[in-house]
Amino acid sequence: MIASIVQFSYLVATALFVFSLHWMNDPKTARKGVRAGVVAMTIAVLATWGQPIIVHHLWIVLAIAAGFLVGVPLSQVPITAVPQRTALSHAFGGLAAGLVGTAEYYLWLGEGPANLTKFRMVAIIAEILLGYLTFTGSLMAAGKLQEVKWIPQRPVTYPGQNFINLGLLLVAVGIGIALVIDPASDLAPKLFPVVIAIALAFGVLLIIPIGGADMPTVIAILNAYAGLSAVAMGFVLDNKLLITAGALDGSSGLILSIIMCKAMNRSFTNVLFGAFGQVQQIKAGGEEKVYKPETPEGAAQVLEQSNLVVIVPGYGLAVAQAQHKVRELYDQLMKRGITVKFAIHPVAGRMPGHMNVLLAEAEIPYADLVEMDEINTEMPQCDVALVIGANDVVNPAARYDKTSPIFGMPIIAADKARTVFAIKRSKNPGFAGIDNELYFADRTWMLFGDAKQVVGELVKQLSGSGH
Ligand code: NDP
Repeated sequence: MIASIVQFSYLVATALFVFSLHWMNDPKTARKGVRAGVVAMTIAVLATWGQPIIVHHLWIVLAIAAGFLVGVPLSQVPITAVPQRTALSHAFGGLAAGLVGTAEYYLWLGEGPANLTKFRMVAIIAEILLGYLTFTGSLMAAGKLQEVKWIPQRPVTYPGQNFINLGLLLVAVGIGIALVIDPASDLAPKLFPVVIAIALAFGVLLIIPIGGADMPTVIAILNAYAGLSAVAMGFVLDNKLLITAGALDGSSGLILSIIMCKAMNRSFTNVLFGAFGQVQQIKAGGEEKVYKPETPEGAAQVLEQSNLVVIVPGYGLAVAQAQHKVRELYDQLMKRGITVKFAIHPVAGRMPGHMNVLLAEAEIPYADLVEMDEINTEMPQCDVALVIGANDVVNPAARYDKTSPIFGMPIIAADKARTVFAIKRSKNPGFAGIDNELYFADRTWMLFGDAKQVVGELVKQLSGSGH
């Protein structure tokens, strides 16, 4: 009877996980998706806990308490820190899978080698390899994104690096195969920790040649690894829910990383082995480029005269938390009968959907958030493109400069607008570390300053309180 209830609960939880992912596809239903995920996870935990096989309840209570202690502060990080927060979750997931695999191996070994069937051993080896490498890899990725001092942001490369990494992985797989063939040999209990050590080292080695700019994509790939290790854990523990939830997690991570790669026009291998973001040689002989600064007052006058204003948000909007001020600006312009649209680039910001989430927070109507391909057809009719804290996603070099690290990345055609105003704090480059000729173009004027403050000034001018 209890077994049937547990299996039925698992079925309900799986269905809710599927709906959760489906609802998260659209900003309108995303909240419902998050709630469905929470309910599914609660059902999963309770159904597992309620099984008669579970006897050590105190340990579970302690684990849940520890989870809350870590989880609640993690849920309160600013939105710009969500990629590294997600990486930390994967690290914990990977560690859990690795520890369960280790515990099961030694437990079954102690109870008698007959328990260690080939099937179980394959699952255990897959689980510990993926689990432990996800653990250290995700910690490194989180550290790079958080700009932790002792983890270099730039790719660290050396000759023969891919060869060494691949060689190490092959050694681990080789020992793993030996363990599957004879899991209870005299040497086996000593070889098992070697696989763990290599997996832990491999996680670090895999991440150090990858630059900070590629970390969000790498995190999506690590998400896929964490999902796969959960699938392996499901086979080890004979738990169907872990298998389905892990498969959902793994495949959604993989799909997300493919979407991100496509949006940047990069291949998987280029992200993982391309050492993108290395310090570039500065081209000699270039003349000093000149920015044309503008005042909020002057910009407000041009905005007032427009019919169509396209706002191009980027990472800087998130850093400045300027979304509510942008909403006020939107209201001011709409009041004057000006059409305002937001150009949404798929990789603007530091995670997919970053701009959608930010603008939804300020309750800007979804209908005015326009995807890149669609808005680009309208850019030649646009009177003002207001670029707020966006850089790489509006860099025209992506179209033609074959030497540029962002060559081939589709961009928002802000340069096609009649006038461009760009808000940023300094002359510093964007995430890819390169200059942006849009800022020096004839039709571009710079509004230097923090996005929240500059947009606030524009609102003041338009609402009349700036005069
Ligand atoms: P960028 O990182 O290219 O540029 C952001 C700009 O915002 C900077 O030039 C910065 O200039 C400015 N800025 C920072 N803080 C503020 C502030 N408080 N007020 C005003 N301006 C500010 O961002 P984009 O969104 O244009 O591009 C995203 C980049 O991230 C792309 O290269 C993309 O490939 C990469 N990426 C994105 C992923 C995603 O999933 N979204 C995944 C992987 C990579 P200054 O310092 O002068 O203010």
